Amino acid sequence: MEQIKNIYCIGRNYASHAQELGNKVPKRPLIFSKPTHSLRKADGTVELPADRGEIHYEAEIVLKIGRTPGDSFTVEEVVDAMALGIDFTLREEQTHLKEKGHPWLRAKGFKNAAVLTDFWDFPGTETCVTTEFSLVQNNDTVQSGKASDMIFDFQSLIAECRDCFGIGPGDIIFTGTPKGVGKTQNGDLFSLFWGNERKGEFDTRIM
Ligand code: ZN
Repeated sequence: MEQIKNIYCIGRNYASHAQELGNKVPKRPLIFSKPTHSLRKADGTVELPADRGEIHYEAEIVLKIGRTPGDSFTVEEVVDAMALGIDFTLREEQTHLKEKGHPWLRAKGFKNAAVLTDFWDFPGTETCVTTEFSLVQNNDTVQSGKASDMIFDFQSLIAECRDCFGIGPGDIIFTGTPKGVGKTQNGDLFSLFWGNERKGEFDTRIM
């Protein structure tokens, strides 16, 4: 994962998830970032922080940028690979930070907060619009979604990152999570699926 540079993340990009947390649907993409030290591969045992309140999983499509977008671009020109990821979130800590108007970094940027499967060649936007991704926690499918359910599509997200911060090769974007986020327990087994294909599996240690 050394080749990954900036980690951009999108909040509230599925109306169904914004609603389950009681948030308004945004008019512009809500963007935050994580340190690269939060990256962790989706295999083996992933350690998560203990004694910091509830840790929620958020399964997401992750895009990897291969070329710097120009003034006009297509997603297929700019994105060279994709993965599935989990944007782990200390939900209670995030709620406190939001109340105080503080940045989310402590709730979203801790070690192992950005779990990623291996990347595979980007199959194109059309495939992402029609392929369901899902997260299985132990034996339950807890989240599933498609890029077609997003409020801001890949093109808009890349353009917004380009305009506000700059974006280029090695940067990745966590594109937001559908509804169904929930609590992670010590010893949970998580599997990430792209259609019927399992792309990553890991268990958790919280202690
Ligand atoms: Zn997220």
